[in-house]
Amino acid sequence: MKKAKNILNPNNLARIVFVIAVFLLLLAITLVVTKRSQTSFVNYEESRSMMIVASGDTLSSLLLEQGLTNADVLEIAKILKTDAGITSLRADSDKITFVRQGQEGPLSKIIIIPSPWRQIELNYNDIGKWVCNNIDIERDTRAVYKSGEILDGDSFYLAGQRAGIPAGILADVYDLLAFEMDFERDVRAGQKFSVLYEENFSDGKKVDNGRVLAVQFEALRGNVKMYRFRKSDGTTGYYDEDGNGAIKSLKRTPINNAKVTSSFSNKRKHPVLGYTRAHKGVDFRASTGTPIPAAGAGRVVARGYNSGHGNYVKIRHNGSYETLYAHMSRFAKGVNVGTTVRQGQTIGYVGSTGLSTGPHLHYEIIKEGKHVNPMTVKLPAISNLGTADKKKFIEYRKVLDEAITSLSEHPDWFIQM
Ligand SMILES: [Zn+2]
Repeated sequence: MKKAKNILNPNNLARIVFVIAVFLLLLAITLVVTKRSQTSFVNYEESRSMMIVASGDTLSSLLLEQGLTNADVLEIAKILKTDAGITSLRADSDKITFVRQGQEGPLSKIIIIPSPWRQIELNYNDIGKWVCNNIDIERDTRAVYKSGEILDGDSFYLAGQRAGIPAGILADVYDLLAFEMDFERDVRAGQKFSVLYEENFSDGKKVDNGRVLAVQFEALRGNVKMYRFRKSDGTTGYYDEDGNGAIKSLKRTPINNAKVTSSFSNKRKHPVLGYTRAHKGVDFRASTGTPIPAAGAGRVVARGYNSGHGNYVKIRHNGSYETLYAHMSRFAKGVNVGTTVRQGQTIGYVGSTGLSTGPHLHYEIIKEGKHVNPMTVKLPAISNLGTADKKKFIEYRKVLDEAITSLSEHPDWFIQM
């Protein structure tokens, strides 16, 4: 049996020292080489030029100005379409940045910012291809609360402005409440309202407003409350306190903010004919040419002229409802008998054709063949919650209500979402 070597033998010791020395030398060389390559990379100073897309600019004109070839431009346009869904740039809103390595170097990166919350980066990679990266900008969303009161002679719009509700949010609130109330007849001094909505921040700076989370209005018919809620299938909608869909299949007032000049009645003196006859709809004052939106989704079943209604359109909606719009100055392009329309789509323009004393919209709702009062008829909801979602909604609503209560006591607070 061989005896184990004594490692403290002077011969062996010299060999070990030599091996360690060689190892250290190799390590030193590696470090120097790594450092070199890092320095040489940093040596190119990145040069960036940012611009806001102007009208007349196209993606290809901007890219060609940057010295790219037609082939590059085509490749980039193709990638932007498939990977980012972008086919054109929007003037005065999209920002585009060109990045080069060094002042005169070739383009290495193109950054397109189509919204405050999205950035698209095109990088020229090692193998000479453009690669697209979609980056979502991190946002910090806060829920804020504003409340107000209608004063004598006020409109809801004025009171909302006074309460500090931003214009875009106020317009959304208006659209929501329009399903439940008539701003002309249901608004009285002393009524209180509130809205909970999102504000989006980036790096501590407010960028824009988000969505309306909850609305409350003390209407004549009772307190109207609407809450935004996400169902388990991922779709969102607005629901009342009990979880019934707040968005109705029809609008009581197709034109927002239009004054009611004549309401529904079974007997009234006709302003032109002079004798008493029923007024089977509601008249809204609006200037000639004001777009008339469809009160709900449906199919156009009549478009024509008669001596009473003048130019009119009739829409059949899902279920048993029809709506009619009269005295139009003209029809919207592409709206014919058989055309399918969505809620809010312009079907024609206000006018004074037929038996009419001045420009207005005469609006009728016909339920199962019978005229009903658009202001009071109970309108069907677009969607209601299933049992499981309803349970979740009730819990979520309680949380929102608690938040609203604490924010109403401390109006300068916000809720971190
Ligand atoms: Zn009328």
